[in-house]
Amino acid sequence: MQVVVTDTVFPDLNITEAILTGVADVRISPPNDRAALKELVRNADAILNCYAPVDADLIAAMQNCRIIARSGIGTDTIDIAAATAKGIKVTNVPDYCVHEVADHAVALMLSLMRGIHAGAAQTTSGGWNLDALRPMDRIQGKMLGLVGFGKIGSALATRARAFGMKVRFYDPYYSAEVPAEFHRDETLEATLAQSDVLSLHVPLNASTRHLIRRETLGLVSKGTIVINTSRGGLIDTEALLAALDSKHLGGVGLDVLEVETGREAARFAPYPNAIVTPHAAFYSEAAIVELQTKCSEDILRALTGQEPRYWLNRGT
Ligand code: NAD
Repeated sequence: MQVVVTDTVFPDLNITEAILTGVADVRISPPNDRAALKELVRNADAILNCYAPVDADLIAAMQNCRIIARSGIGTDTIDIAAATAKGIKVTNVPDYCVHEVADHAVALMLSLMRGIHAGAAQTTSGGWNLDALRPMDRIQGKMLGLVGFGKIGSALATRARAFGMKVRFYDPYYSAEVPAEFHRDETLEATLAQSDVLSLHVPLNASTRHLIRRETLGLVSKGTIVINTSRGGLIDTEALLAALDSKHLGGVGLDVLEVETGREAARFAPYPNAIVTPHAAFYSEAAIVELQTKCSEDILRALTGQEPRYWLNRGT
């Protein structure tokens, strides 16, 4: 059998190859070569996907595929409806980097609120000037507003409480009991209007694309800090840059961009209150070992007639 890797961020495929030894060969598609990928997937029994789009057109070319395994949490790269229609199982790994992303969001937030990023840039270029970092507010008592209260949003909420912050959230699909120390908003507008720091933790889909745009930025208070560790498409980049230009926002901390290139990230360079990291929030050595292991184990399960553990389109 054959597993085709559409693209990868890992230095090697050793973990996947070890787990699939004796069951399947692992072949990686040449980078950014859609025609080669389309040819390769024809006979693939399984697809291992990172960021390359696995759209309806690519899925239509698959003749033997049993599973498309997303090496990550978000599944916006995969046309799940097209896969389901073809009887192909789709999996992700929903729980491998919850701590890392929550920690990364905290790091972006604290760095902006404490002027760490701006202060370090100043001193490494020979400056020593506290005045350039004024005014700076106290973190304790500030309101963190979360859009999305799933695994990462709620992990961030717990961390923020340790800094004495208040936490409110908007998540219309949240069905568990709300812990007493957190406030649930019934509308997105309420969360936008009453947060000192706004952090996004929703999946990217048709209803969340450009959730943050000119109109919604108009609802946040002047000086609000916006953090996005979820997906770049949640924010209209032009509107965000305009809100930095007008000094309506107090800062932005982004791990994800609509277009993830250095050139795009450099558009934020003029703003000392903007931090951009290169889609790194998921990363720790422990997280990527866990990710590769869990993702490959689900491919093994699908290829050996067992139920994948993280089977998303089960029963659909
Ligand atoms: P999750 O599924 O546990 O939580 C998502 C929450 O969003 C759910 O509670 C859901 O009810 C809520 N939600 C969905 N639509 C909503 C809407 N329109 N408004 C408000 N809430 C809504 O997912 P998670 O593990 O917390 O991950 C969140 C996102 O983080 C993922 O979708 C992924 O895109 C992103 N992510 C990024 C990185 C990175 O490296 N930067 C790593 C992992 C995950």
